[in-house]
Parts: sequence; C-alpha cells; structure tokens
Amino acid sequence: MGNRRPLIAGNWKMFKTSEEAAATAKEIVRLVLDVKNTDVLISPPFTSISLVREIIRESSVLLAAQNLYWEKEGAFTGEISPAMLVSAGCTHVIIGHSERRAYFGETDETVNKKINAAILNNLIPIFCVGESDEDRELNKTFSVLDKQVENGLKGLALTDAADIVLAYEPVWAIGTGKTATGDQAQEVHAYLRGLLEKKYGAFFADSLRILYGGSVNLNNIASLMEMPDIDGALIGGASLDPGTFSKIASFK
Ligand code: PEP
Repeated sequence: MGNRRPLIAGNWKMFKTSEEAAATAKEIVRLVLDVKNTDVLISPPFTSISLVREIIRESSVLLAAQNLYWEKEGAFTGEISPAMLVSAGCTHVIIGHSERRAYFGETDETVNKKINAAILNNLIPIFCVGESDEDRELNKTFSVLDKQVENGLKGLALTDAADIVLAYEPVWAIGTGKTATGDQAQEVHAYLRGLLEKKYGAFFADSLRILYGGSVNLNNIASLMEMPDIDGALIGGASLDPGTFSKIASFK
C-alpha cells in the first residue's frame, strides 16, 4: 500500500457569483482550520478564481480550475490557457469531467491534449473517467475505463504520481443522488490502480491518488473513505455549502 494523503475536492460547477464565491471561500477557510491530514481543494468558476485565490492565500486550501484550453495563446475566443490559470493562482485543473464530455463535445483526444498541456505548465490535472448507466448494464465498465485511461494518458511519460490525480466518477452517480456503494467503488478503484501499475509501475500506482465522485455526501463519505483504494472525493452538489463541505473534509 502506498502512503497516500487524502484529498477532498469541491467542484462548484456553474454556481456562485463573485460575491457568493468569496463568502463561501471565507467560510471554508475558517471551517477547515482543524483539518490537518487531508488536502482540501475548491474549484470555483473562472470568474472568481483570482478573488478566491486572495481569500485562501494564507490557508492550506488548494485551488483548481474546472477546465482549460491546450494552446499557449491565440485567437480562441472564450478559452483560458494553462499559463492564465497558473498566474491566477491555480495549482490543479479538473479535466474530462463527464458534463464537459456530454455537453461540450470533449473527447478522449481533447482530454489527452488538455492533460498534456496542464502537466507541461505544472498544473496537476484531476483526470475524470467513468462509465454510463448503459455501459454498466452491458458489463462494459472496465472496457470503457480502459479506453478512457489509455487515450487520456496517451504519450504521457509520467514518472511522478504527484503530477496527476485520477477521479473515478460513474456518470450514473453524478448529481443523481445514486452513489456507488463502497464495495462497487473499491472494485473499480482497485482495477484503475492495476491499469496504472501496468502503464507506469508499482511505485507510481501505489502513490497515485484516486478520488471517487458521484453524489458524495455526509452520509456516505465515511464508508467510501474506509476503502483501501479510495483516496478522497470529488464533490459537486455537497461542496456548495461550506458547512457540509467542511464536515465531509473531516470525514474520520
Ligand atoms: C461532480 O461534479 O464531479 C460530482 C461528483 O457531482 P455530485 O457530487 O453533485 O454528484
């Protein structure tokens, strides 16, 4: 077993104006002061990143963006480059979230370009993979994950597991209130760790943090975190309220 520090990450999606984001971030900083052995990360919309950065500056709270574009700069109206995220204070970036794949045309190929661009700019990608309801019913969970992992990491010669975070987010569990059970999630996490071991070796796989995402809340976090291959959570809905999110972050 590796010695992996838990990571509790909040994805605010397209919620919160700048004023709301600032107030939420202030509350989170205050409420997670006692959370010592877990990394806590928040991911506001682009418009609040710089503001939130100032609020969390003296705290241990980490900052992620929810997306990036892989080009360095140029005529790409509406897009945000990796360097812009770094200069705004991000250390992490969520890539390949199923909502981006479903609504904004992201493919394994664009996800691969984004992961590559993030790593080249010293941003840690939180690389999301997960099967749909239909995939699971057709017993295709593992083959779908194989393809997403293989294509998403194509050409990437990763040597340090700290350079990336993997997030297993079954699409059927996101925002639906249906959570994978601890055993269901553990089975997939162990499988994913095995895949990464084949690609990058045992030391890498043992050190890699794999988060679970999909309707995580106060009632299920403890049973998920008991599982040996679940190293944290990526949380949407339940991350919007600072009280709930901070309690999730102190899951023990
Ligand atoms: C997510 O957005 O990554 C997510 C898991 O959402 P929710 O917690 O709302 O299911």
